[in-house]
Amino acid sequence: GQCAQVCPTGAIVAKSNIDQVWDAIYDPDKIVIAQVAPAVRVGLGEKLGGFAMGENVARKMVTAMKILGFDEVYDTCFAADMTIFEEATEFLDRLENNGVLPMFTSCCPGWVKFAETYYPELLPNISTTRSPQAIFGSIARKTLPAKLGVKPENLVVVSIMPCTAKKYEAQLPKFSQDGRPDVDYVLTTNELAQMIQSMGIQTNELEPSAFDMPLGFSTGGGVIFGATGGVMEAALRFAVEKVSGNPMSPIDFKETRGLAPRKEATLEVAGKKLRIAVVHGLANARKLVEEVKAGKAAYDFVEVMACPGGCVAGGGQPISHDKDFRTKRAAGLYDTDKGRQVQKPQDNYWVDKCYAESFGGRPGSHEAHTRLHTHYQNRSQLFDAKSPILRSKKEDAL
Ligand code: SF4
Repeated sequence: GQCAQVCPTGAIVAKSNIDQVWDAIYDPDKIVIAQVAPAVRVGLGEKLGGFAMGENVARKMVTAMKILGFDEVYDTCFAADMTIFEEATEFLDRLENNGVLPMFTSCCPGWVKFAETYYPELLPNISTTRSPQAIFGSIARKTLPAKLGVKPENLVVVSIMPCTAKKYEAQLPKFSQDGRPDVDYVLTTNELAQMIQSMGIQTNELEPSAFDMPLGFSTGGGVIFGATGGVMEAALRFAVEKVSGNPMSPIDFKETRGLAPRKEATLEVAGKKLRIAVVHGLANARKLVEEVKAGKAAYDFVEVMACPGGCVAGGGQPISHDKDFRTKRAAGLYDTDKGRQVQKPQDNYWVDKCYAESFGGRPGSHEAHTRLHTHYQNRSQLFDAKSPILRSKKEDAL
């Protein structure tokens, strides 16, 4: 929740890796690259000052990060586009081949851990596609040593995330190879702001710069991942075109937008009915899951985000007292999407190229399955309703 980074009593402290990131930046042997999640760019400005609430500050943020000493600054939205290639392909495969439905999204580690702990029977329903952070880590390890001419052990991968759960996700042993984690360090939006402010950088006065290529190029579909409903909308941009065979298929699915506790729609595509739902906040997720289990609600595809409002309101984002902060930050992402010439993830030329060069040529290939998908763990043994404290002790021991 919101207090994870700033709990006034210090009772809840998420570990900060700011010092390790500085050490890596000042180590002449290391090349330090960063990926920045979509929600960060519409939250950071509030903390730094001099920007409107929800303003997309990506271009000045990139300049500030270069001044800090990051060698390359890339965009998690690239990996979000790739996530859609995998996740929507997986969904269509489940739909056509009587696979397990409804399929739930897997981008949010808060939701995934919740399901692993309280609803292990639902694990086959969760998409096996890794989250954008994890997919980015995988791409970075695979492609960047050769591209940047750096020894694998000297490449340091940093994520800037709106989220404290992403710190936990990056540490999972399954997201590593050859004993090296795909993502070395995760900093929150607030921690990045702290680094920028500690250097006295006045970000709003900087010249803009673009994310580095090719892992900095994304479509509008990748950008809206940061708002509740955005993953579903991006997936529909992909899936509806695939099913209808019509490249002029709609790209706006406004049923998925906004802050209603549950958003649902039935879409008619090429004579088929697609029933979709979007929930945010774990209480809303629990309610939907209970209804699905009791046979009271039927869907094909469900997006779940643990934070009310989605990642724009994640636990690593600046705390706001404006009652409309979620809407304003989401608007920053939807405006950015509207301003993009390329809005459908499947039209991301650089993702296509990345598949061709490094991931077996297409989504769902053997290579893609090995490096872009995952499996889940039943953690229900960790849950003891009578003794939540014991539970966290048991968890520490794992
Ligand atoms: Fe993290 Fe919240 Fe986004 Fe989930 S919804 S990925 S917990 S910021």
